[in-house]
Amino acid sequence: MRCRHCQCALSLPMVDLGTMPPSNAYLTGAEQFANEKAYPLKVWVCQYCWLVQTEDFTKADELFTADYAYFSSTSASWLEHARQFATQSRVRLGLNAQSFVVELASNDGYLLKNYQAAGIPCLGIEPTTATANVARQLGLEVVSAFFGKMLAERLYTQYRQADLIIANNVLAHVPDINDFVSGISLLLSDNGAVSLEFPHLLNLLTQCQFDTIYHEHYSYLSLHTVQTILHTAGLRVFDVEQLPTHGGSLRLWCCHQQAQYETYDSLQQVLALETQARLTSPVAYHGFQQRVVGIATKLKDFLQQCHAEGKTVAAYGAAAKGNTLLNYAGIDSRLLPVVYDAAKSKQGKFLPGSHIPIVSPDLLVNNPPDVVIILPWNIADEIKAQLRQQCHTALTFVTAVPSLIISE
Ligand SMILES: [Zn+2]
Repeated sequence: MRCRHCQCALSLPMVDLGTMPPSNAYLTGAEQFANEKAYPLKVWVCQYCWLVQTEDFTKADELFTADYAYFSSTSASWLEHARQFATQSRVRLGLNAQSFVVELASNDGYLLKNYQAAGIPCLGIEPTTATANVARQLGLEVVSAFFGKMLAERLYTQYRQADLIIANNVLAHVPDINDFVSGISLLLSDNGAVSLEFPHLLNLLTQCQFDTIYHEHYSYLSLHTVQTILHTAGLRVFDVEQLPTHGGSLRLWCCHQQAQYETYDSLQQVLALETQARLTSPVAYHGFQQRVVGIATKLKDFLQQCHAEGKTVAAYGAAAKGNTLLNYAGIDSRLLPVVYDAAKSKQGKFLPGSHIPIVSPDLLVNNPPDVVIILPWNIADEIKAQLRQQCHTALTFVTAVPSLIISE
């Protein structure tokens, strides 16, 4: 296989997670178990541009189907993150009723509705029909398509160039990263700005966040590599923020090479962190597989011990990252009989691979288990606070990444 950015042959493997179903392919009934599709999940490192990437196996349209179950509006902390971003970007770029904002992968409109409320013209691009329809019900205009150079050309003629392009938490999901970034460059006005948010590869490595690896995440990104990719499309980074979201993310502010934005010190600071962690050397990637095995084994041992002691155990949060963890560790409904999730779109379905049934958290409140395994560890504090408030008995909480942590 060749690198998706620079086309060099890939020879440095980072981790092999075996064969897994796509993390967001929730099943609606037991009759689907036998026909479930699974694909190899292996991550390679390009030793030329240092893009960390999954092995090619299937087309994007097989993964992001019409019933794709992830709705951004389900998480309260995420909605707050979006609201703050909208206010910050409006002030920073001086956006007003004459501006034009485009969001790539606008999901259910959780972010754009803030610009709409402020009277700023905006447009969403969202390939997933179910989420796009929710956004349309809010009165937002949404184009249902995958973004790339071709779509950018169409939008450019049909609408106009954008003063702000938001591509938060989408870059990692794009199979053809060069085409996507070229599209951004085409659609961006001369003095416009782009916001790019993505989980930072640095944290994936230091915190061993291997459960953030799944087929729908094609790339695992550093500032170093994204900067290289942007340069090829005539764009540059002028500011970087480090965010706590998704276990540690970067938000890059980018513009055309000749645009009037001064470059902030933050750029050199984050690049220095990456150099310190030796992200552009094979050393940083050695031993990752062994650390993954350690985390998976510890969780399975813990569940077997609970089972032997007659404790009741359940999982909370049917997040994609939970699926990678459970399927790699070989944990199914015998050790973890149920997963609670607040998203109505997931309730009544089954997790891919492990086939654990997803039910409403109301059932947990009425009949709390002894131990709750929180799968989306990035929002563990929010989940714990919520459950403590709702349940009248003491609960034991467990998170597995970066190491097994048991708390009350
Ligand atoms: Zn490369």
